[in-house]
Amino acid sequence: MMHFIQSRRHFMVMTGAGLAAAPWVAGCATAEGAALPAKAIGRPWPDWGELPDSPPPAPKEGSVGVAVVALGGYAIGKVMPALAASDRCHLAAVVSGNPDKAAKVAAAYGLPEDAIYSYDNFDQIAGDDRIEAVYIVLPTGLHAEWTEKAFAAGKHVMCEKPMALSSEECERMIAASEAAGKKLMIGYRCHFEPFNLRAMELMRDGAIGPIRMIDTAHQYMMGPTNVSENWRVVRALAGGGPLEDYGLYSLQAALYLTGEMPVSLKAATKKPANDPRFEQIFSTLTAELTFPSGAVTQLATSYNAPDSKNMIHVEGETGTLHMSPATSYDGQKMTLTRNGVSEDLVPGDPNVQFARMCDHFGQAVREGTTILTPGEMGLRDVRLMEAIYRSAAEGREIRL
Ligand code: NAD
Repeated sequence: MMHFIQSRRHFMVMTGAGLAAAPWVAGCATAEGAALPAKAIGRPWPDWGELPDSPPPAPKEGSVGVAVVALGGYAIGKVMPALAASDRCHLAAVVSGNPDKAAKVAAAYGLPEDAIYSYDNFDQIAGDDRIEAVYIVLPTGLHAEWTEKAFAAGKHVMCEKPMALSSEECERMIAASEAAGKKLMIGYRCHFEPFNLRAMELMRDGAIGPIRMIDTAHQYMMGPTNVSENWRVVRALAGGGPLEDYGLYSLQAALYLTGEMPVSLKAATKKPANDPRFEQIFSTLTAELTFPSGAVTQLATSYNAPDSKNMIHVEGETGTLHMSPATSYDGQKMTLTRNGVSEDLVPGDPNVQFARMCDHFGQAVREGTTILTPGEMGLRDVRLMEAIYRSAAEGREIRL
């Protein structure tokens, strides 16, 4: 059985290969290695989240030293606490364009001043043995460029999701990893989160019979903003918008719950006129994906939805699995219904996902173990998103 699961995962990771780039996606991405804009677009420091009251304890023996690149909301809110909680990785350095912020964050985590790097002297991490790996938490359009720089410096890389904005960028990142002989992992935290892991297990075990339908939505109402203040609405940094950022959780779930790759898909996008939030990106995307087993996924994602949703609903031939919130940082709820009887399942604490992901990465770096969410998986998903956008642009079903 184990062999089958591993083979199937390998198959799923690899079979994105036949998908081609959507023209506009390739065009909008910073494929040629865009320089960082002089001024970062986003919330001003110090609106980034909590710093620890006291530095974490000394790292465990054999723990992998990680430099975190970009000190934004996710880095400070989740990545650094996860590194502090991990047994196999620890924060060894920070890379930031803001010296004041970097100094405060470094002090809070007990890092010495010489463990603070800027984007200008980033290349010098090559000679810093405290740093074995780099965690890229930059806006998505900058992932490829800085991942390549990290590999050039001889470090392993953990890169946040989505991997990049075009399959061409993803391919470059994988090639750089291979050339450097270093690991590349994508920060797909749901693969380390107890509710989603239990959902995968239930589906593999046929708990609700063959899957007929997955209805999944990741959406919310984005507050007033525009391209000069929020990178998430800038096409060169965010791609098409909600799909890459949030809908990707729906897409991933469809793949890891069915255990299949879609054979065809049809998608549509919305972009309201005269809304500064959606000058460059789509507000909403819906897609229908059909799988070889006949299972169908209805996917919705939006930054312009009056009702927030973080939901996965799976309908099988003999029952249903409902998750809402399904892929949050915390607070997951999951109900399994079989033969008319419903039970709420609480397989663990969702909060462990962040540190477990770091542990998995650290183990792969130290022991050479296989990464569950490698660059090939990120590439597979970006190829699918390209096909989704192509379907929407051409107004037709795409066969994969
Ligand atoms: P953020 O806006 O909070 O932080 C972005 C950081 O990048 C800031 O420190 C900013 O100063 C810096 N930066 C450097 N160059 C920049 C530029 N040219 N424009 C804008 N910012 C620049 O963003 P975030 O929410 O932390 O997202 C960062 C990455 O993490 C994205 O790839 C996102 O998809 C990913 N993310 C993942 C999760 C998850 O649950 N896995 C959650 C949130 C974000």
